[in-house]
Amino acid sequence: MSVPVFNNYIRGEWVSAGATFENRNPANTDEVVGLFAKGSAADMTDAVAAATEAFPAWAAMNAPARGAILYKAADILDRTFDSIAAEMTREEGKTLPEAKGEVRRAINIFRYFAAEGSRMPGVVVPSERDRVHMFAIRKPVGVVGLVTPWNFPIAIPAWKLAPALICGNTVVLKPASAAPLSAWRLVEALHQAGLPKGVLNFVAGSGGELGNALIQAKGLKAVSFTGSCEIGNWLHAEASKRRLRIQLEMGGKNPTIVLADADFNSAVENVVNAAFFSTGQKCTATSRAIVEDGIYDRFVEALVERTKKLKVGDGMQPGIDIGPAVDQGQLDTVLKYIEIGRKEAGEPRVGGNRLTANGLDKGYFVEPTIFADVTESMTIAQEEIFGPVLAVMRAKDFDDAMRIANNTPFGLSASIQTTSLSRTFDYIYKMEAGLLTVNLPSAGVEYQLPFGGTKDSSFGPKEQGPAALEFYSDYKTIYLKY
Ligand code: NAP
Repeated sequence: MSVPVFNNYIRGEWVSAGATFENRNPANTDEVVGLFAKGSAADMTDAVAAATEAFPAWAAMNAPARGAILYKAADILDRTFDSIAAEMTREEGKTLPEAKGEVRRAINIFRYFAAEGSRMPGVVVPSERDRVHMFAIRKPVGVVGLVTPWNFPIAIPAWKLAPALICGNTVVLKPASAAPLSAWRLVEALHQAGLPKGVLNFVAGSGGELGNALIQAKGLKAVSFTGSCEIGNWLHAEASKRRLRIQLEMGGKNPTIVLADADFNSAVENVVNAAFFSTGQKCTATSRAIVEDGIYDRFVEALVERTKKLKVGDGMQPGIDIGPAVDQGQLDTVLKYIEIGRKEAGEPRVGGNRLTANGLDKGYFVEPTIFADVTESMTIAQEEIFGPVLAVMRAKDFDDAMRIANNTPFGLSASIQTTSLSRTFDYIYKMEAGLLTVNLPSAGVEYQLPFGGTKDSSFGPKEQGPAALEFYSDYKTIYLKY
């Protein structure tokens, strides 16, 4: 079977870059999902120029008309829902039900922000002066660069693209090299929906080369980035030199606190779900379970028993709970941290190995792994692993659990399992994280509320929900005497 080639998209044209790079299925590396145009620095500069040319007309179009294009793109995505989800499983590895959930979310995000075009809330307040009308309206920022990771390959591009476009910005999107196809499908849908030429440009290729060209490009006004702290911090330093607006969503080391008064069985389910589903490759995944002393031993035992029942394999197969790591690099990182964990905390209570038997040798499969009796200073309690590895830690009581939970430079998401209302509110006010859940997994957010972390996890205005407009628009304030 011939391998499809996916070109870049600049000025409304699909353009090849000469060179290509492979997108392989992490569950079966014999399968090439597609070949992608490997954009160069010159392509990136040209894409920013195209977005700069397209900006005045797009910014001048009324926002409901921009929304109509987003609605149309959402309908196109809806019609191709099943094939886009299957492609996502093949390029990223997450299970088909998870991929379907993510595509549904991207469609919902498009519709949510399409409707925002008919609101575009400004501010109207009474003046202290007679016969003066004062108000503030939203204006787009200009050309926005979007740099996205592989772990939510359609939802993250969607939750950046939709608010950027509805506010009247033009965009250059650089997808993750490990999973560019899902983002490409969004671009295709917007193209088919009649988005004017140059309003959205897509350049795939090496992050280092393209990221550098993007941040230097004349005309660029803002960058929204989701990915690792290392790259985000570098982008921030470079963007600051040019006073670019920047938004960063980065790593986490998310805790789930389990108190002795919790609904025990549901707490077990929630921790296993948050730690291992999507192969632990969610930025909001739980990587530390902090369990109150009174139930600690029983809880570890129950976690281990539940984890043993999880089925690891090709996410296209029914009944599979956990797919592969996304690529060799991610697999190596996970296996490296498992070895560190072995040295620090002893043999894992479950898992700890790469899986190759029963046809899994062609993929990057690893067992869901639990280390118990992990203490705060251990590397596996401090560093983001981004894989199916859970560190279980013992807390004397609620206050001790909160102290351990906050003892990290990260602050993305957190969860508590408890039936105490009082403890819940203490946690809500004292937990240092941008996203909190109670009696739910730490992962699994919706698009209607602000999303993002605190401390080293994030920088800049929040994404999603009504808050998303803050980054992608500016206020223009008007005082009018009549
Ligand atoms: P990454 O290596 O930082 O890559 C993210 C994106 O940046 C990719 O498109 C990558 O391109 C690009 N990139 C690489 N070098 C660059 C450079 N010098 N300048 C500009 N862009 C560059 O992160 P990842 O491995 O894809 O994603 C995993 C990380 O994302 C984890 O740390 C996870 O916690 C974080 N994450 C955070 C959130 C959140 O909302 N806080 C959500 C999801 C993921 P290439 O793919 O071509 O290298």
